[in-house]
Amino acid sequence: MEKVSRDQIELLAQLQEKELEASKIDAALKRLPAKIEEMSLGLKEFEAAIESQKEVVANLKKAYRAFEMDVQAHQSRIKKREEQLRAVKTNKEYQAILMEMEEIKRLISRIEDDTLGCLDKMDMSENEVQSKLHEYKIEKESIDATIGLLEQDAEIEKKKLAELISERDRLSKLIEPQLFNQYQFIKSIAGGLAIVEVRNAVCLGCNMNIPPQMYNELHRGNELKNCPHCHRLLYVI
Ligand SMILES: [Zn+2]
Repeated sequence: MEKVSRDQIELLAQLQEKELEASKIDAALKRLPAKIEEMSLGLKEFEAAIESQKEVVANLKKAYRAFEMDVQAHQSRIKKREEQLRAVKTNKEYQAILMEMEEIKRLISRIEDDTLGCLDKMDMSENEVQSKLHEYKIEKESIDATIGLLEQDAEIEKKKLAELISERDRLSKLIEPQLFNQYQFIKSIAGGLAIVEVRNAVCLGCNMNIPPQMYNELHRGNELKNCPHCHRLLYVI
């Protein structure tokens, strides 16, 4: 077993702590754009719902204008019949035109009922657009505020990350190159965690027991040992 000072082991443990903290912050920072995008996506769905509601209103307005034009057309038909009435020669002809006029009036009355129904729907839909716009405004303000806070936090975290990286660089220069290389190698094969504490003879990297003799030797703190199960570097406090 190679001899190594307790100092070096402690430095390695500190270095790893900085690295783990830095990678946690880095991962959170990388997730941020997707998080913001997801929040904005909710707003876009809201905008689409408002647009389709506006389209409903526009279609109702079109229908309303069509009803109005229908009524005007039928009214001019009535006027035409009134003129015809003045020129009729027989009673039979007179009665026929009157009946036709009654029929047109009933038609107009039906269209007017439909027009009123259309107006009601227009009112309701317009109110719905207004209330959705109001909701949207509140929602957007809240999302914008949250995004603002997230971005502020991100700035703080970026500074923290830069400090951790420079601290990590400082520590890595204090560690003997051979030990540092070994640490890097184990880190690459053991899923990030390269140096772990042994507590009550249990490796906290893999939760397996290490041999009692090895545990005793570790307490001397001047030898670097690897876990026989997960091969991580071990230390005791
Ligand atoms: Zn282990």
